[in-house]
Amino acid sequence: MEIGVIGAGVIGATAALELARRGHGVTLIDRSDGADSAARGNAGAFAFADVIPIATPGIMRKAPGWLLDPAGPLTLAPGYLPRIAPWLARFWRASWPDRYAPAVSAQTALMNVSQAALDRLLAAEALEPLLRREGQLQLYDSAQTFRASLPGWEECRRNGVRFDLIEGAAALAEYQPGLAARFTHGAWTPDWMNVTDPALWVETITARALARGATRLRAAAQAVRPAGQGAEIVTDRGVQAFDRVVIAAGAWSGPLARSLGLCLPLDTERGYNTTLPARGFDLRTHVTFSDHGFVVSRIGDDIRVGGGVELAGLTRPPRMARADALLAKAKAFLPGLEVTGGRQWMGFRPSMPDSLPVIGRAPGAPAVVLAFGHGHLGLTQSPGSAEIVADLAEGAAPAIDITPFRPERFSGARA
Ligand SMILES: Cc1cc2nc3c(=O)[nH]c(=O)nc-3n(C[C@H](O)[C@H](O)[C@H](O)COP(=O)(O)OP(=O)(O)OC[C@H]3O[C@@H](n4cnc5c(N)ncnc54)[C@H](O)[C@@H]3O)c2cc1C
Repeated sequence: MEIGVIGAGVIGATAALELARRGHGVTLIDRSDGADSAARGNAGAFAFADVIPIATPGIMRKAPGWLLDPAGPLTLAPGYLPRIAPWLARFWRASWPDRYAPAVSAQTALMNVSQAALDRLLAAEALEPLLRREGQLQLYDSAQTFRASLPGWEECRRNGVRFDLIEGAAALAEYQPGLAARFTHGAWTPDWMNVTDPALWVETITARALARGATRLRAAAQAVRPAGQGAEIVTDRGVQAFDRVVIAAGAWSGPLARSLGLCLPLDTERGYNTTLPARGFDLRTHVTFSDHGFVVSRIGDDIRVGGGVELAGLTRPPRMARADALLAKAKAFLPGLEVTGGRQWMGFRPSMPDSLPVIGRAPGAPAVVLAFGHGHLGLTQSPGSAEIVADLAEGAAPAIDITPFRPERFSGARA
C-alpha cells in the first residue's frame, strides 16, 4: 500500500518506520525541518512508569493554588480561559473516579505494548546505543506530599510498575548526590529509561524509515479527504492520493481532523526547558520534582531542566520567564548545578482532556488513521502507537483493545 503520514514528529516518524518495515510505500510529510516538533526538545524519557493520567481525582482542587503561584507548575495565559474552558470541563470530568480508573487501565495497556514494541525496535534497528537505562528518582517536598502520593503508587503497583519508596536524605543521596537538604522522601522507578537525545532519536528513526524506502516531502498539509477506497492529502504543494493516510501532526492535528468533519477536543499544554552545559555536575538519573511539575535529565553531554504546563494555545509567543522560573527552582533543589549559559526552548504538547491519545480510524473516513494527542508521553508511547497505526492501516486487529483511544469517545467525532 502507499501511505501518506502527516507529521514527522516522534509519532509520525515511528509510524513511518513501522509501515516501511512492513513493506509499504511511505511518504512522510512535514511542513518544517522539525523545528516545531515537541519531540525534538523534550526531556527524553521513556516514562513507562507514568501510568497515572494527569486528570487524577482531586487535581482540580490543587489547580487554583498552582495558578496563583507565578513559579508554580501550571499557568493560564490571560484571555485564554474562554477558549480552553470546554477542554477544562472535560478534563475535570475525566478526573472523576468512574473515568479515572479505566483511564489508568488504558494507559497501562498502551505503556505495556509500547515497552514491548520498543524492545522489538531496539533489537531490529540496533538502537540500544541511543538509550540510557538509569531509572528515575521522583522527589517530594515533604512527608505530607509523599504520603499524599501513596495511593497513586499503590495504583502503580496494581498495574505492575516496579518501584521502591525511599525515606531519608542519606538514602536518596545514594541514587542522586547533591540534593538540597529539604528532600527526604522519594520513589525510585528502575525500569524508567531515557534516550541520549530526543532530537537524535527522531532523526535516527526518520533516517531508518528513509533507508527502508520511505520518502520525505516538505509540505504543509491543509486538508485530508476520502477518495475512493483511499484518501487524498491537500498540501501547499498540490494534492496527493494514497491508499491510507495517517494524521500525526501533534498539537496541529485539529484542523486536519476538522477537514474530515471531526471536532476533537485537542489543545496544547506548552512546556519549557533550558539545556545547560553539565560542567561536571554528576546527574546519575532522571530526577522528577513531583510537587513542582518539572524534571532534570541528561541530554547528550548536557543537562536539561524543564516541564511545567502553560495553557496558552498555539499562536501566542513563548514566555521564557517560565523557563527561568524552573531554572531558579532547579538551582535551589540541586545547589551544585551551574545554571548559566543555557539554551531555552518551548514545546507544544498535543493534549486531549482525558490524558489519552487519539488512535483509531477516522469516523466516516476509514482509510484515514488518527494518531495524535499523546500529551506528556509521546516519546514513551510512540513504539506502541506506531504498531497500532500500522495494524489499523492494514485492517488488522491491534494487540490491545483500542476502544479507550478511539476518536468516537468524544461526541464531536461521530461522523
Ligand atoms: C517540555 C516537554 C517535555 C516532554 N518530555 C517528554 C518525555 O520525557 N517523554 C515523553 O514521552 N514525552 C515528553 N513530552 C511530550 C512529547 O514531546 C510529545 O507528546 C510528542 O512530541 C508528540 O509527538 P507528535 O509526533 O505527536 O508531535 P510533534 O513532535 O509535535 O510533531 C508534530 C509534527 O507535525 C508537523 N506538522 C504539524 N502540522 C503540520 C501540517 N499541517 N503539515 C505538515 N506537517 C505538520 C510539525 O512540523 C511537527 O514536526 C514532553 C513535551 C514537552 C513540551
